[in-house]
Formats: sequence, structure tokens, C-alpha cells
Amino acid sequence: MVTVQNLNFRYDRKAVLDQLSLNLNKGSIYGLLGRNGAGKTTLLKLLSGELFPQSGTVSVLDHSPSRRDPCFLSDIFYIPEEFTLPSMNIDRYLGLHAPFYPKFQNGQFQKFLKEFELQEEKTSLAKLSYGQKKKFLLAFGLASGTSLLLLDEPTNGLDIPSKTQFRRTVASALREDQIILISTHQVRDMENLIDPLIILDRGELRMNASLEEFSRKYVIEFQPKGSSGSALYREAVPGGEVIVRPRAEDEEETAIDLEILFNFITRKEEEISE
Ligand code: ADP
Repeated sequence: MVTVQNLNFRYDRKAVLDQLSLNLNKGSIYGLLGRNGAGKTTLLKLLSGELFPQSGTVSVLDHSPSRRDPCFLSDIFYIPEEFTLPSMNIDRYLGLHAPFYPKFQNGQFQKFLKEFELQEEKTSLAKLSYGQKKKFLLAFGLASGTSLLLLDEPTNGLDIPSKTQFRRTVASALREDQIILISTHQVRDMENLIDPLIILDRGELRMNASLEEFSRKYVIEFQPKGSSGSALYREAVPGGEVIVRPRAEDEEETAIDLEILFNFITRKEEEISE
């Protein structure tokens, strides 16, 4: 459904994406992880047709996003990290915007509004708090029924109960013919939600794999202070270290800590050679 081949993108003299190739398949909630400035937002804009590739190809739902065909635009929904909402109430917004999305489901929209505690909200959208605005747009985007939903840092500005609700709502909303791609640097917010993971680092793809593929190869475990043994990666934690090491064939697969996985995959070259 999404195919990116040898994609290069730069802003003026700054190279951001370097020969990026990537495939995404339907039925999954992909996590797009990377440090600040890794190129995540740039990639989302290229997938949604807001930026055009300088070389390489991008195909999304059998369309070239840069053509911005109406039937492509009505089958994707992109929630950027920063956005403004107009001064109108929910009903008016719905009346104006839902017709652009032929698969929009009003029943689902009302359900999501309720889950995000926005169903009683009658004031202008522009007067809602940042977190409420974000939840409103999430409810609208999830209800739009589009084949591709792109979310850039969706949990920024959400309080703790809202983050929990966000995970529940997104997990329950995914359809088999849909891709949800969530860009974030806050991996802890996405635990038990995103799988597979795409990791971008300095414009390059470092990982595009499911957690199962990762845990078939590696073990992440705690070792108390003083234990010895080799590891591919170590991180000090109270009382000892968390390490990453290759998994033996007959060994049980372990739970994956996303932050450790991310640090392991993006560790610096000097750490790898060590
Ligand atoms: P991320 O979303 O991973 O934080 P971005 O895709 O927003 O990263 O940005 C990647 C790099 O491109 C950053 O170094 C950023 O400063 C730069 N950048 C982003 N937008 C612009 C722009 N409009 N003009 C110039 N440089 C930009």
C-alpha cells in the first residue's frame, strides 16, 4: 500500500532523507521513531503530498502523492503536530469537512468524541485547550475511514488518562484494510500499540520490522550489579543494567522495552564497534 524507493529529500543545503526505501502493509499500526530532526515529519509530508520527492519514488494507495488527486486526498488523513482549528462548533465542522471523506462514519465519530470526553462540547473549536483540540482531530481522523492515517506526535499535549485512552481508541479503530502510521519520539506513550517499528536515524532507515522479528533475534533483560557477561548494548538503571544480547535458539522470547530497543538500534557507531 505504501512503497518508497530510493527517496532523497533536502531543504536547501540540508540533506534530510538519504536513499530511503520502505514498504508498509495494511492492517498495522506502524510506529515511526527517531530523534528530533531525524526526518519523520518530512517523511509524513512526502507521503501525504505536502512535499515532493527530489529523487526516488513514493507510491501511496497506488497514487503518486505529489499529484494530489482528489480521490487520493479523500482516502488519507494527516494530523500534523501543529495545527489550528477554525472558530466553529463540532457540528458545523462536521457538516463542512466530513463530505470530503466518503467513508466517514458519524456513529464512530460520536463514539470517539465520547471516549475523549468531548461529546458535550458546544463551544468553538478554536477555544478548546491544545489537548482537547488534538483529541477532537483524532476523533475526526479515526472516523474518516481513510485507508491511510498519518499521526505526527499525537500524544504531545495529552494528559496521562488521555494518553491511555488514545492507545485504547486507536487500537480499537484499526481496520484490516488500513494503515495507521504514528510518528513519535515519545516511545513510552506507544507501548503495546505500535508494531511494526520503523526507525529513522540521521535520514537513514535503521529498522523496519515487527517486535516479533526483533524478539526472535534479541533478548532485552535486567542484570543486577556485578553480573558479568557479554552484551551488544548496556544501559545503567537503578540496581544494575538493562542489556541487549542475541537470543539463543531454545530460549524464551522476552518482553520488549521500546526505549531500550530504540537506544540499541540508534546507538552510536563507536558503541557498535566497542
Ligand atoms: P522530525 O520530525 O524527525 O523531528 P523533521 O522532518 O521535522 O524531523 O526535520 C528534519 C530536519 O529538517 C531537521 O534538521 C529540521 O531542522 C529540518 N527542516 C525541517 N523543516 C524545514 C524547512 N522547512 N526548512 C529547512 N529545514 C527544515
